[in-house]
Amino acid sequence: MIPYDLPPYFMLSWMFLYGAVIGSFLTVCVHRLPMHNGIFAAWRSLVDNASHCDHCQQQLLARDNIPIFGWLLLGGRCRFCKTGIPIKYPLIELANGLLFAGLYAMEVPLNHWNPLSQSCLSSTLSPTTFENAWGLSPLVLINCRYFYHLVLLETLFVASMIDWDIRTIPLSVTLPAMLVGVTGAAAFGQFWIVPVWFQDVSLAASLSLSSPTTWTWTGVLLEVPNWISEHPHWHGLTVSLMGIAAGAGLGWTILVVGKKLLGRDVLRFGDVMLLATIGSFVGWQPIAIVILFMAPLVTFCATSIKRRLSPNPRVPYESCLSASAAIVLLSWRWIWPDLEQCFSMGPVLMVVALGVMATCLPAITLIQYLKQRSSLRNIDGNCA
Ligand SMILES: [Zn+2]
Repeated sequence: MIPYDLPPYFMLSWMFLYGAVIGSFLTVCVHRLPMHNGIFAAWRSLVDNASHCDHCQQQLLARDNIPIFGWLLLGGRCRFCKTGIPIKYPLIELANGLLFAGLYAMEVPLNHWNPLSQSCLSSTLSPTTFENAWGLSPLVLINCRYFYHLVLLETLFVASMIDWDIRTIPLSVTLPAMLVGVTGAAAFGQFWIVPVWFQDVSLAASLSLSSPTTWTWTGVLLEVPNWISEHPHWHGLTVSLMGIAAGAGLGWTILVVGKKLLGRDVLRFGDVMLLATIGSFVGWQPIAIVILFMAPLVTFCATSIKRRLSPNPRVPYESCLSASAAIVLLSWRWIWPDLEQCFSMGPVLMVVALGVMATCLPAITLIQYLKQRSSLRNIDGNCA
């Protein structure tokens, strides 16, 4: 599926180079986007000024902007004032180059004749071939889908770095990406990884609490609905909008319930927007079931590792959320088989989800109560 049947190593090297150059631009985004409140002003600032030294304000030479090597050739210091340039800049360029090449290797089957099923996003329900859309060939479409998902990963990368620096995610990062998520999904109609609705009728019927015939009669039990293949663009738009609704809805619920039960902000508005942005690219099932549950696990692992390396073990939740979304995107083909059974339950899944939430709430309240008891005891101990 590589254009002109080019050798895979050539294509991956090209993607790495491309990613390293864009990585250089990402550092500018991380630096300038949070400086402005307005979205247009923030994006205009990216093209207003050429790259310059933050210390002496001298404009950098073209050769100083060469990704990774520019920093190495300067010995990590400004050409004019000799102030140190943080090593994070070449590291971001390197990481972004690896991200570009890694996603390409995982998402686009590298052999020209390999089927789409070898992509990391392939599953029993995802599109097995790309139908011609806008007169584009399947080869062009799969490469377009790669760039579509790249927009999401780059957004997550920038959002995580800004959040790491200033503990906020500006709207100028999430909102434009969400727009790309919705328009890309609607325009191409085949970039979804799970249809907006599907169920195994026999499984859902056997699990239903009331009579299965009643459910079938009322039309609740359906297989993958026909309109999904008949109207791909409307379906793409629906997948994306449902993803936004699920991401924003769940994020907002956690924010409000967390505030009430724990008395502090478990999530912030920027996190809710980040969840909605991820949802606009991947749909409601991955965001609601997988990413939200994987993020605390990633946070726990990252904190455990960082505790061994640094005295401050804090790892921002937003970075772990972004990492979870990237993991899900890159390993969907292997994650999906375990989830298919779960989503096959159809409307019964909603009943199970409500049951899980109902049991989680008393557990969170109990933890909060025990925490308050132990902090009160500490205060009493200190006073005595
Ligand atoms: Zn300087």
